[in-house]
Amino acid sequence: MAKDRERKRPNILVTGTPGTGKTTTATALADATQLRHVGIGDLVKDKGLHDGWDDELECHVINEDLVCDELEDAMEQGGNIVDYHGCDFFPERWFDLVVVLQTENSILYDRLSKRGYTGSKLSNNVECEIFQVLLEEAKESYPQDIILALKSDTVDDIDRNVASLTEWVRQWHPTS
Ligand code: ADP
Ligand code: MN
Repeated sequence: MAKDRERKRPNILVTGTPGTGKTTTATALADATQLRHVGIGDLVKDKGLHDGWDDELECHVINEDLVCDELEDAMEQGGNIVDYHGCDFFPERWFDLVVVLQTENSILYDRLSKRGYTGSKLSNNVECEIFQVLLEEAKESYPQDIILALKSDTVDDIDRNVASLTEWVRQWHPTS
């Protein structure tokens, strides 16, 4: 399908395993670029775009159709930074750039422990990172040339990533 070139500002997806720094990165990038940060987790909670609570996974069961309907108009307009630990259910045409954040396993383990994750919730997420699940999901869902894997181990990495993504946004052009 032809890409939507109507939008005047790009849409960026920031994805990765929980704890890799999506919200930190997306918030800083939104600050630097005046793009809009769309945290899918908060959106789902605020607008009730879910089918209840999953006790085992300890998260809302996201209703993907409702989320996509909710975002369609804004995405058509452009200028959004979408932040979510999944990427296979968004329309491919929405995004001009798909950023996959990656963190070294032991660093991620510590971050998620600090966040209060324990047991299988902790090990499942670290395994998700070890097996590069989100990078594979992105590769199966989007054109390879718009996928960018970025290391997010340190605060310096965040600064560097935000700086280079800000530059990318500045240079982006609707017909590029
Ligand atoms: P996500 O949205 O991917 O779950 P967050 O942005 O909420 O991740 O980050 C989780 C925690 O890890 C926060 O306390 C954040 O400050 C820290 N963190 C995230 N990325 C980095 C990084 N690259 N270097 C140092 N700390 C980080
Ligand atoms: Mn987050």
